[in-house]
Amino acid sequence: MKFGKITPEIIQELKDAVGKDIVFDEKIHRMAYSRDWSPRDDSNTHLPDLVVRPRTTEQAAKIVEIANKHRIPVTPIGGLTGMGGGAVPIYGGIAFETKGMNKVIEIDVANMTATVQAGITLWDLNHEAKKHGLYLPQEPESKKVVTIGSSITCNNDSAFGIRHGRMIDHLTNAVIITGEGKIVRAGRRKAMCSNSGYQLNWLLVGSEGTLGIIVEATVKLIPVQKTRMVDMIVFPSLTDSMNAIRDIMHSGLALESAHINCKKRLSFYTHSYRKKHGKEPDIPEWAEALLGISFASMEETDKVVKFSRDYALKICAKHKGLPVKEVEITDGWWASKYTVIFTPFKQKWPDSQREKKFGAVDCGIPIGRIEEAYDAFLKTADKYNQQILGMCVYHERPNRLSPSISFAVFVDDKDPENVQGFYKYVREMSETAIKLEGTSATYIGDSEFKTPWIGELEHQEAYDYMFNIKKVFDPNGIMNPGKKFPIKMFGYDE
Ligand SMILES: Cc1cc2nc3c(=O)[nH]c(=O)nc-3n(C[C@H](O)[C@H](O)[C@H](O)COP(=O)(O)OP(=O)(O)OC[C@H]3O[C@@H](n4cnc5c(N)ncnc54)[C@H](O)[C@@H]3O)c2cc1C
Repeated sequence: MKFGKITPEIIQELKDAVGKDIVFDEKIHRMAYSRDWSPRDDSNTHLPDLVVRPRTTEQAAKIVEIANKHRIPVTPIGGLTGMGGGAVPIYGGIAFETKGMNKVIEIDVANMTATVQAGITLWDLNHEAKKHGLYLPQEPESKKVVTIGSSITCNNDSAFGIRHGRMIDHLTNAVIITGEGKIVRAGRRKAMCSNSGYQLNWLLVGSEGTLGIIVEATVKLIPVQKTRMVDMIVFPSLTDSMNAIRDIMHSGLALESAHINCKKRLSFYTHSYRKKHGKEPDIPEWAEALLGISFASMEETDKVVKFSRDYALKICAKHKGLPVKEVEITDGWWASKYTVIFTPFKQKWPDSQREKKFGAVDCGIPIGRIEEAYDAFLKTADKYNQQILGMCVYHERPNRLSPSISFAVFVDDKDPENVQGFYKYVREMSETAIKLEGTSATYIGDSEFKTPWIGELEHQEAYDYMFNIKKVFDPNGIMNPGKKFPIKMFGYDE
């Protein structure tokens, strides 16, 4: 069995149903959707046959209904910064551009919620929410272009995960267009806690566009933080830095962010210092881990923040932690995580970025096995000839040590062998994560690269249950095909 093909008749049917101004078949439009930010060489880009850019839920539903009737693949598109090929239309069909649905529907100040169309960017939503003294503390580096819809379906890492969590902790309600073109409300309106029915809104989190297209979402907001202090501290081992975070958390302080970087990643953050002063900063030889932390408050005065920060530094000292003196290093880290205006990588490794692409595998490793994971990273990257950028450990559940790790390398996109080596590296690191009792995916997801082998490796018998869920939402397998489930499971030819 094969997917349906876009024909002039189907294009006309779509135009008649939703208007010709949101249906595009010119090559110039389609070319913009043939790849995302994932490492891939030129032979591995995929042109969609058609692009649609609806503005309303009803238009979105009609498009999917028609696609389903003709068995045409539909790939939801957000900001295209995904790093695993999630939004690449690998079987052609319709590239479903969601950014036309970018309206704020309601900011409810009393209940501290925002209801928006899902194609709005995190940045634009916060621009609106801040007018009311509120904001969504979901802060991936790519926030300028990442949409609410893709942030939900990728459940991406946020700079403030250790305090506020990530999308699964903010989302109360979502409206989805299923693979049959039905409009389904999933969630609890504006309530955070509910035990009624199943938590379908949370099922959408991490679904990577395979269950349907999210067109509307309601999220919880928090007050804008007015004061903040940021520090970096070096430690003699990764474990020492992990223990310091644990003790800060359990002392009663409310850390806003806590990211551990390995020694290799130091150069990433010392870049601006070297540029400015023409020399290496005064970081001790023994430093194996670099911890970045912040404290923030909605108070105008820095009293709470300063107390928290001073107390935290004392706890770090008990774990042999030494604050970094050079302010450029701390600023570099903070700019890369938070203040960055999305000019990809401008502030980091600008020289190497011209030549190679940032690629990563995103594993979740239990806290006690972090050193083993790091050793495996160095060896595996070397085995597949991947230039190491370094390891960054985020913590992404509120008040928990919950490593979501980026094992990052530079990939030469112009060298197909190096790109193939990257894919093998992703597979082997995923196997390692599972052997270490962790998970193969945290912020990038299964996407295109892991799909061929992820069922067997990560899920075993639970994979069949997941496939049954997929079929309830998308019986004909047209929603983002080739992601999470190989298309042969639906009986389509590869
Ligand atoms: C410079 C840079 C910095 C980054 N920083 C971070 C970071 O700090 N933290 C982090 O976690 N990630 C980061 N990433 C990775 C990336 O930004 C995230 O994975 C992000 O969630 C992708 O969002 P996007 O809008 O670009 O989605 P896309 O790449 O367009 O799509 C991602 C997935 O979401 C699906 N999708 C999109 N919209 C919808 C919708 N409305 N309904 C259903 N499915 C949908 C797509 O089909 C695809 O499967 C970074 C990437 C870059 C290039």
